[in-house]
Amino acid sequence: MPPWLKKSARVDLIQVFAGARSVLRTEIHRAVAPADVRRWVRRLSLFLVVDDAGFAVIARTPALARRVLVLDQSPGDHTFALGRALGYPWCCCRAAARVGEDGLDAWAATFERPVGRFKLIDPTGYRDGQALISHIPCSHACRPSLEMAEVVHRQLPLLGAQESVHFRRALTLREPHRPSW
Ligand SMILES: [Zn+2]
Repeated sequence: MPPWLKKSARVDLIQVFAGARSVLRTEIHRAVAPADVRRWVRRLSLFLVVDDAGFAVIARTPALARRVLVLDQSPGDHTFALGRALGYPWCCCRAAARVGEDGLDAWAATFERPVGRFKLIDPTGYRDGQALISHIPCSHACRPSLEMAEVVHRQLPLLGAQESVHFRRALTLREPHRPSW
């Protein structure tokens, strides 16, 4: 992962590579030259659009990247449409839309900690790149979210050593009794 990419983009990228999603939205540190970012994204066979504030959309097709950025910038609360465009489960997008864009952080703070296999969908630590999903699940037992998290979980053994250790540390904290790799 390049240092100019937010840690949270880690799981988004794995989801895109694993085919669980086709697009991700993140922020690019202003310190990096746009040409460097473009080169990096091109090397991954993905497409990039960035706005003036440094918000970036990286997608499998240029049209999709543009569509998400336009949606993101359009006025009004478009939580549901944006969530769906970003590839999040329908049930979670509907729940997020009920809360509204401005209420998402407060809603995330009330998230009931999942148990058993559903620990994989715990979004805690997403900002530090330590979650297996990148959205707030509609409940602590959301099955579509679990399916997304499992896609990422299956990729962990295939990651480079540094990435792999990072995720394992995060998951070990959550699953002290049963590391599953
Ligand atoms: Zn859901």
